[in-house]
Amino acid sequence: MNSGPSTENRHRVVIIGSGFGGLAAARALEKADVDVTLVARTGHHLFQPLLYQVATGILSVGEIAPSTRLVLRDQKNVTVALGEVDQIDVTARTVHATAGHVDFELEYDSLIVAAGANQSYFGNDHFEHWAPGMKSIDDALELRSRIMGCFEQAEVTDDEEERRRLLTFVVVGAGPTGVEMAGQIAELARRTLKHSFRRIDPARARVILVDAAPAVLPPFGNRLGNAARARLEEIGVEIQLNAMVTDVDYYGIEVKDPDGSRRRIDATCKIWSAGVQASPLGRMLAEQTGAEVDRAGRVLVNKDLSLPGRPEIFVIGDMINLDNLPGVSPVAIQGGKYVAKQIAREVATGRSPAARRPFKYFDKGSMATVSRYSAVAKIGPFQLQGFIAWVLWLLVHLAFLIGFRNRVITLLSWGLHMGDHRSHLNSTARWAYGRQALARAEQSAERETDRATADRDTDRAPAD
Ligand SMILES: Cc1cc2nc3c(=O)[nH]c(=O)nc-3n(C[C@H](O)[C@H](O)[C@H](O)COP(=O)(O)OP(=O)(O)OC[C@H]3O[C@@H](n4cnc5c(N)ncnc54)[C@H](O)[C@@H]3O)c2cc1C
Repeated sequence: MNSGPSTENRHRVVIIGSGFGGLAAARALEKADVDVTLVARTGHHLFQPLLYQVATGILSVGEIAPSTRLVLRDQKNVTVALGEVDQIDVTARTVHATAGHVDFELEYDSLIVAAGANQSYFGNDHFEHWAPGMKSIDDALELRSRIMGCFEQAEVTDDEEERRRLLTFVVVGAGPTGVEMAGQIAELARRTLKHSFRRIDPARARVILVDAAPAVLPPFGNRLGNAARARLEEIGVEIQLNAMVTDVDYYGIEVKDPDGSRRRIDATCKIWSAGVQASPLGRMLAEQTGAEVDRAGRVLVNKDLSLPGRPEIFVIGDMINLDNLPGVSPVAIQGGKYVAKQIAREVATGRSPAARRPFKYFDKGSMATVSRYSAVAKIGPFQLQGFIAWVLWLLVHLAFLIGFRNRVITLLSWGLHMGDHRSHLNSTARWAYGRQALARAEQSAERETDRATADRDTDRAPAD
């Protein structure tokens, strides 16, 4: 595949990623005299801030993940390609990707890398098996199935100890995602599922929010952090701070307290929201360009979001380390628009990249929901909490959702949720156990390969 339906040697822009940064860049290039190819490993644009609502049955996948192809259908200078990028050659100016069993290569004149970040387990990748994070649609559906599966199993088991374990939900990480997740599981148990089981009382479920840090929502400051904590406790979430997770297994987690002592929390359902690691494409670019990467794999970019000695390559969004910018969607969106503007201007006027003005981030504030009707918001010097912050959160998220239809349906789903209804609590065994099944299949394939290698070596061994 070549880069797009190239017209008369037009400038070719390749964008990696259809998230906030990639999509913003593609849209901002609409009027530019360029051919754009947007390649991403998923066919949708994912609105990650509302993933937790899919994981807890409030919203459906379609509402937060519209097809990128349809979103960009009317933008004639964009070609959308589904593909997992595994190689970037900065000298040849090519990007290599695979879509299923098909390999293809894209040539570029300008490259925008917006591949985002993955969950980080701080070197303990095996934790992921028992405590999935929440970064993708797969994650949200798996978590929803695991959460619902725990209530279902608790209803039918006669083993009291197992029932307690099934009705204990641990969320690791008291940042916005952890707070939102813990709050929603508590509300699901105490409100939505009320009276719907016969042998268990879902309201007796324990929801525990664990963090190694001493505060809830540290970036929001003490006042809002304490407000969020108080609200969570009010709806029944247990908060355990200064508790570092040292191990995770099928039956629960082990935590280390400040005095060095270790203890277990038995819980079948564990959810990880404790850290992020930038896409490995950042490291790949750094190795070829001499750029530095930080411990989280983020690339230290130039002030114009380009790489050292490579003004034609931009890195944006969650993959960058610049001026302590946070890993939030406005940084990615503004970065995408900024780099699109530089490319469009340079293509139109022939201006040198040396004349670029630095990227300036405009911080519009941050917000997180805690429960129904309750959120916290920090906007410049203003700190809001409770119902007002929640209304603000609602309006902002509606405004940023892609598509009029999605906004209407989301509003409808939120309306139903206010009456304690959740329309999307369906779960399947494949969602719940797919990850374990894949891991088992991989292990048995590895064992098969080892056995075949050993057999071949035995056949080749010289006879005594
Ligand atoms: C659960 C959750 C809640 C959040 N809540 C908020 C919030 O309330 N407010 C806020 O501002 N921010 C929030 N964020 C952060 C925000 O979503 C990110 O900062 C933002 O998505 C970053 O945009 P991005 O374009 O850099 O990456 P992403 O939006 O993550 O997009 C990355 C894209 O790259 C693609 N990709 C990755 N690797 C490859 C590859 N090798 N080949 C091809 N394609 C690839 C992915 O498929 C995806 O399309 C939240 C994040 C999460 C996970």
